[in-house]
Amino acid sequence: MKEMKTIGVLTSGGDAPGMNAAIRAIVRAGIAKGMRVIGIRRGYNGLINGDMIEMNLRSVSDIIHRGGTILYTARSPEFRTEEGMQKAVRVCQEMGIDGIAVVGGDGSFRGASDLSSRGIPCVGLPGTIDNDISSSENCIGFDTAVNTVKEMVDKLRDTTESHDRCSVVEVMGRRAGYIALHAGIAVGATCIIVPEIKTDIEKDIIPKLQNIQKTGKKHFIIVVAEGVGKVDEIAKLIQDKTGIESRATILGHVQRGGSPTVQDRVMASEMGYYAVELLSEGIGNRVIVMKDNKVIDYDIHEALKMEKPFEERLFNIAHTISI
Ligand code: ADP
Repeated sequence: MKEMKTIGVLTSGGDAPGMNAAIRAIVRAGIAKGMRVIGIRRGYNGLINGDMIEMNLRSVSDIIHRGGTILYTARSPEFRTEEGMQKAVRVCQEMGIDGIAVVGGDGSFRGASDLSSRGIPCVGLPGTIDNDISSSENCIGFDTAVNTVKEMVDKLRDTTESHDRCSVVEVMGRRAGYIALHAGIAVGATCIIVPEIKTDIEKDIIPKLQNIQKTGKKHFIIVVAEGVGKVDEIAKLIQDKTGIESRATILGHVQRGGSPTVQDRVMASEMGYYAVELLSEGIGNRVIVMKDNKVIDYDIHEALKMEKPFEERLFNIAHTISI
């Protein structure tokens, strides 16, 4: 077994609230185990360019409650080339980095796996607000993001109700409807539109709104995942067909920020600690996941092959009770 004297930590891909809590846990657990911990800035770019800083116990003070990532994040096209990868390995050797904890999504895990196979053991931690990492039931940042959506849409509901309007709200999730589904249920949305379930606005949404209108309801919230279609076009169609004044709202990047929830902080702390336990034993090419409410680890290749079934039962429940 390769002795782990120094480990690196980086955040990669889209940022997510709770990444700082993970960094804090990794740095402190690493130091507690007698290792040096290097903070690598801007994802794999920092690895290629040697953009890094030695961390100490105090460099992660006062960050547990902060969204974003103190190490910054980036997408690194160069890292995906053989040359970039070789450069990253060379930098690790020069800096004496024996292993790396990578907080990111499936793309970042592919990079972590490539590095592991080149002699730098890496452990991935699932960080994404979209919750679209196939191997993990829950991801760092998701709970905070849905809570942000809940707060914003609760505010929107006040004005939607006052004006007897229909609000069509776009939330994040280009390929995944987890934010739309969970936030949609939490805000009592009349309709939830997600990429996983084919929805025809004219056939599925308009008749539902018209039926509910007959029961005396005058205001509506429709939550749409961004990957599904343009919310202004959906709002216009609804207004034209039902006569309900309809407005589109795009929540956008506010969903990425903010102070992480208790759930995200606790999960990130536990996963960070777990990642260091694996690395300290020289174990790499693993990803830490949440399964049945427990933190466990998988081989990265196995994890990337997994499929996460969409929560169709929850979707159907939402549809049934939003009448
Ligand atoms: P996420 O990690 O959130 O899925 P990306 O897919 O953008 O985000 O990946 C983040 C970074 O991980 C990329 O910029 C790249 O440096 C690295 N990466 C992505 N896919 C691969 C891959 N197939 N092989 C090696 N590295 C990759």
